[in-house]
Amino acid sequence: MARPRKKKATEAAPERSPQEAALCEKYPLVNIVPGSWRAPGGRDGWGTKATVVTLCPCSEAEGKDVTTVRATSDLFQVGSLCQVCSKARSKNKAAKRKEAK
Ligand SMILES: [Zn+2]
Repeated sequence: MARPRKKKATEAAPERSPQEAALCEKYPLVNIVPGSWRAPGGRDGWGTKATVVTLCPCSEAEGKDVTTVRATSDLFQVGSLCQVCSKARSKNKAAKRKEAK
């Protein structure tokens, strides 16, 4: 049975806007939460940047939605990893680099 998904403060429509659909096409590896796209100035604290909410792959393991707000201009480099996962990943990379020496 599917569990009901918890919604955070934003009551986002589950439909993708054209802008969001374009981003999904551009960054197929990034997991963008449907309906989370906000126009520049549309999200507090992000100034004039357009933003989306991404869902980290660790959500499944965590048993909850692990989401992060991103500027759309950053998507190409950050992917959909949450802070914890991207930290863990860069740690792993650093460790591997050490081992290689
Ligand atoms: Zn994560």
